[in-house]
Amino acid sequence: MAAAIASPSVSIQDLSLNFGAVSVLQTLNLDVAEGEFVVLLGPSGCGKSTLLNCIAGLLDISEGRIFIKGKNVTWEEPKDRGIGMVFQSYALYPQMTVEKNLSFGLRVAGVPKDEIAKRIARAAEILQIGPLLQRKPSALSGGQRQRVAIGRALVRDVDVFLFDEPLSNLDAKLRSELRVEIKLLHRKLENTMIYVTHDQIEAMTLADRIAVMRGGVIQQLDAPQTIYNRPVNRFVAGFLGSPA
Ligand code: ADP
Ligand code: MG
Repeated sequence: MAAAIASPSVSIQDLSLNFGAVSVLQTLNLDVAEGEFVVLLGPSGCGKSTLLNCIAGLLDISEGRIFIKGKNVTWEEPKDRGIGMVFQSYALYPQMTVEKNLSFGLRVAGVPKDEIAKRIARAAEILQIGPLLQRKPSALSGGQRQRVAIGRALVRDVDVFLFDEPLSNLDAKLRSELRVEIKLLHRKLENTMIYVTHDQIEAMTLADRIAVMRGGVIQQLDAPQTIYNRPVNRFVAGFLGSPA
């Protein structure tokens, strides 16, 4: 077992979630350090999105507690948790320009206009979407849409980013490009990122640590090389481990 993290950015304690009689997450524990990039990796249906949605506050948990930056947010509204979430399906407002998509949540939250402009300019620079600000999502490519979706989390100036398979809808070339961009973004922002994928390469290249999940349980939580070289069981070995 790795040593406990002293003041984790995200701490999930004995979290269980049932849909009716079906147990989807089972007494799950996970501490993510400040600035750490943790990837939740596992086959379809293993509970990755459910776990992310619990952290985001989009699902009520059945048991357990969730702390973000030391604060118990188990029953806090999503908007009060200090997280930004990026989905696979972009979830942009189709009728709004890119700029409006980026500013909408901030205006609702009452952020002053000049501050909004500043944050959008910064996000546009980091994500290279400056020339797209006046376009509607329908006039963007898949990769551009996903950059805007990331920008929407970025402008909120949150401590924790949650990504749910943000690259799965993109072709292989774009996927590897955006993978690099997300890595650079993390280096630049140094914030906490929890990133869901079923793609082993994404996990290996992005993660500080990978949590390999199966059936609502974390099988192994370790650095990519450790998991690759020393998988704890056959499942992990089959999913990610070395062929030996
Ligand atoms: P993953 O993201 O790893 O593919 P999910 O977290 O989406 O997996 O789903 C985990 C399990 O929970 C699956 O068996 C799925 O069918 C089930 N599940 C997800 N959402 C619901 C729901 N709203 N109601 C009932 N079962 C659900
Ligand atoms: Mg999912």
